[in-house]
Amino acid sequence: MMQTLPHVVIVGAGFGGLWAARELAGAPVSVTLIDRNNYHLFQPLLYQVATAELAPEDIVYPVRSIFRHQKNLQFRMAEVEGADFNAKLLHTSIGNIGYDYLILAVGGINNYFGIRSVAENGLGLKNVNDAMAIRNQILKSVEMAMQETDAKVRQALMTFVVVGGGPTGVESAGALSELLHLVLPKDYLGFDFSQTRIILLQSSNRLLAEMPEPLSKETVAVLTRKKIEVRLGNPVIDFDGTTVTLKDGQTISAHTLIWAAGIQAASLAGKLGVRQARLGRIVVDPTLQVPDHPEVFVVGDVAYLEDNGQPLPMIAPVATQQAKTAVANIRRLLAGKPPENFTYRNPGVLATIGRNSAVAYFGRWQFHGFIAWVMWLVIHILRLIGFRNRLTVLSNWAWDYFFYERAVRFILHGPCDESDKLLICSLPDDTK
Ligand SMILES: Cc1cc2nc3c(=O)[nH]c(=O)nc-3n(C[C@H](O)[C@H](O)[C@H](O)COP(=O)(O)OP(=O)(O)OC[C@H]3O[C@@H](n4cnc5c(N)ncnc54)[C@H](O)[C@@H]3O)c2cc1C
Repeated sequence: MMQTLPHVVIVGAGFGGLWAARELAGAPVSVTLIDRNNYHLFQPLLYQVATAELAPEDIVYPVRSIFRHQKNLQFRMAEVEGADFNAKLLHTSIGNIGYDYLILAVGGINNYFGIRSVAENGLGLKNVNDAMAIRNQILKSVEMAMQETDAKVRQALMTFVVVGGGPTGVESAGALSELLHLVLPKDYLGFDFSQTRIILLQSSNRLLAEMPEPLSKETVAVLTRKKIEVRLGNPVIDFDGTTVTLKDGQTISAHTLIWAAGIQAASLAGKLGVRQARLGRIVVDPTLQVPDHPEVFVVGDVAYLEDNGQPLPMIAPVATQQAKTAVANIRRLLAGKPPENFTYRNPGVLATIGRNSAVAYFGRWQFHGFIAWVMWLVIHILRLIGFRNRLTVLSNWAWDYFFYERAVRFILHGPCDESDKLLICSLPDDTK
């Protein structure tokens, strides 16, 4: 029976793919959802995994559990390697999969803007592995600094550079400051945390460019109060693992560089023979269809569509709204109707700068301080998937808020190889 129904294949179980799959519940189609991971990741809280506030399990949710009751959907864990749009066929790590309609929602990857040394020695923040690598690096740096006798090396170990003045960079720097100034000093008695330096670098002259200027200035003021050095208008051009070099020639001795400066389209976008725009995003029609392939829709970070002459931002509301339009258009095509154009409704922007402090911008309305922080907390808790996740995240936040404690502080030992970014290889290995 199922085989006779039109087959909709969705690639990616991120915000776009998940919302599209949910919208298809009860539709007269069979749905196959494909992702290389068996979970949905709530990326907006990744920085809290990186700064030891949450465990990875708190912000991921198994895809199979989400769709346990959706009878028309099957999930396949697989890597999509390419496609033949003319034959309506996907090439995947588990074989070819045919489709009648395809929704591509493969998101993005870190973008180092061609700075190879930063890609090799810096730490991006895009997935669970990235967040764990950052957490290991921070905790290991403090352990190593505590034992270091050379003052210069100790200072470099305790210098943390965050690159990127968007919400992710601001949030990471704020959380890092609280970890290093409020939480860890309780456990490292006798160690002088006042030598800690956190430097937030932004290539342009303003933080949080999507917010009005007064909120950007407020953000700089709050970060400065949190002992974070904010440096604007001076891009990073090199990082060799111990020295960060800026465009004007200045250098910073630091062992940790967290890269929160950019995202580009997932690599699959470049393997499909379709037109790509800035950042490798796939150019789509206003209906979200790929030109000349009306049965292929692209949504989320990987889709390139302009709104008022500007590319739509790579944020979750764009992905979820586009997913709904793509599904509505598939339903229209099935009913013999023409597809409709996508219209973006901007729900506003929020960024938290740490305890009791955030900035929020909703069109005519601007908020900062405690009220914006409460808004941020409520919105993020509501958006998290799974009651259990909401409960554990809330209890972790409450514990941290009242007791200045972060639960997830173990250093995970990884395999030692040349690309190891976790500084683990310097530990003696007595497990062999
Ligand atoms: C650290 C961080 C913080 C953020 N904070 C915010 C925020 O506060 N607010 C906000 O609105 N947005 C935020 N964003 C952006 C937001 O997460 C993205 O815009 C959103 O996830 C895009 O949704 P998507 O469905 O396009 O892609 P994603 O959610 O990235 O999902 C893509 C999925 O595709 C899968 N995939 C990719 N390639 C393949 C392949 N070849 N084969 C199989 N599967 C594949 C991936 O595993 C992934 O599950 C943040 C992003 C990051 C990295």
